[in-house]
Amino acid sequence: MSNTILKTLQETKDLFLPAIPQIPQGRYVHFILMRETESFPLFQTDGTLNIIRVQAGLTHGETISRLVMFKRKQTSPERLRGRELLRYFGLITDSGERACEYNSANFCKQCPDCILYGYAIGNEGAEKSKVYADSAFSITSYEESHKALSFNALYEHGTMTQAGTTRSSFGEQDHVVPQVFFPAVIALRDPTYESFLYVLGNILHTSRYGAQDSRTGAVYNHLVATVFANGEIFSNLRFTQAIYDHLRDEQQEGKESNSWQTPLSRDKVLGGAATAFNILMQTEPVFVARAVEGKEVEHLRQEVTGFYQKEAESNKFLSNLYEATSSYAGKYGARRTGK
Ligand SMILES: [Zn+2]
Repeated sequence: MSNTILKTLQETKDLFLPAIPQIPQGRYVHFILMRETESFPLFQTDGTLNIIRVQAGLTHGETISRLVMFKRKQTSPERLRGRELLRYFGLITDSGERACEYNSANFCKQCPDCILYGYAIGNEGAEKSKVYADSAFSITSYEESHKALSFNALYEHGTMTQAGTTRSSFGEQDHVVPQVFFPAVIALRDPTYESFLYVLGNILHTSRYGAQDSRTGAVYNHLVATVFANGEIFSNLRFTQAIYDHLRDEQQEGKESNSWQTPLSRDKVLGGAATAFNILMQTEPVFVARAVEGKEVEHLRQEVTGFYQKEAESNKFLSNLYEATSSYAGKYGARRTGK
């Protein structure tokens, strides 16, 4: 497949900067996502699911409890996926000159992960993240979106009974259920073509979120739209509330009598997200240089996926990106002033 949408974007004047700037230039690319659970993830702190009580919609004023997917629960797995690829191509290593150790004093301060997602090392210096994320909220209420699953503490031979006595101990843990939707916007400040491909690639590649010891955290990221603008746009909560309003209104108008059966219909949620996105963008005080939506955004996803399926191309592009971030580090980074 020829890279038509990628090529078009790359050739559009002023969407991408030629190099990563140190000082903010007022360019943002936003990835408008719908994160859909496909298993039983645990978005939790200290053993309980994270929830918060907020207004249901922008026009529907009642309050509901929503599940929360905190910022780091979203960006950490995406970063780690990117770092895995950098390691695959030998751009970062576990030891030696290219060593970069995540969340430690041994961040390399020059690879794409360090420069784009940022780091902080005591008083040795820090790099601000150029990837902006925030907590995401479930469209449906906590009550509709979780299930307490009990697990039996079995004896080694696989039953609850040993020597005639039956064990009564079992644990119970709240899990998020499949097909719960978390609308989310991830923004990249001052994108170059390569940093855009890197951050979008990480989002599209990441399929597990939540507690790290859990193997049940499957989540699929739908790409609803991509928008280039000269400022930041609406919050995740506002986006979630606008989608909620749309789905509730559809139901009340009787057009879609079952639009609020949980799990919500994926098509209706994605359609509602596209509509809410357009409505909210009309109220944003920013200049939109380019919005990629509908069929075009599907093509964008396919092209980026196809791009990463080619090993040589991915290697070349990641190597170019590494050169760009390490030259940034040489000019402005903590590598220069620190140590
Ligand atoms: Zn690094």
